[in-house]
Amino acid sequence: MNEFLKEGTNAYYTHMGVESVHEASVLANEYTWEILEVLRNAGGQGITPKKILEKVREKKKNVSSSKIYALLKKLYENHWVDKGDYVNKIGDTGHKHILNEIAGDILVNDDFTKVIKEKMQKYIEKHLIPYFLEYSKEVIKNLNDDPKTRKWLPDRKKESYCFNCHSNHEALEFFDCIFSIASSLFQESDVFEIMMKKERFASEKYTVKSS
Ligand SMILES: [Zn+2]
Repeated sequence: MNEFLKEGTNAYYTHMGVESVHEASVLANEYTWEILEVLRNAGGQGITPKKILEKVREKKKNVSSSKIYALLKKLYENHWVDKGDYVNKIGDTGHKHILNEIAGDILVNDDFTKVIKEKMQKYIEKHLIPYFLEYSKEVIKNLNDDPKTRKWLPDRKKESYCFNCHSNHEALEFFDCIFSIASSLFQESDVFEIMMKKERFASEKYTVKSS
């Protein structure tokens, strides 16, 4: 799937979460994945629907324009893709599409998110965010210090900034992923195992080392 990602483009997520049958049907379409790759390669400056079609046709010669435009519309409706207007040098206007960051929180139930925020936001701000910040800086420093891992850092080129929100979406994904990796290490730790048993969420047979 990553074979034609241009160099310097990082795919931190290797799949997307699905919330409904409708979304699943969009993602089940093979052309959706071609479109997503084209968008990812286009980076922060986005790409016009016409150019997307051209790029997809480099690999899938016979695909109809209506099919690609219909999928693009569905991706937009599902907020995987964003749109922005542009004016080019000769005064032509139109719109460009950009791949939204595939944020971790789109996978979480809205009501649950609301409850956690109500009960825990103050705690998170006071006790966790300082550690999140320290961890983020430490990840950046450690990846950067090693020439072999430097490529995993999101790039800082101006062209990578989204024309809508002015950030590099790849960087937002990067942070989602480093926290998700930390969270899985927590779930593989001895302290987690002990807590699971104490809270009676697991029996005495449970061990985090099993998998
Ligand atoms: Zn954006």
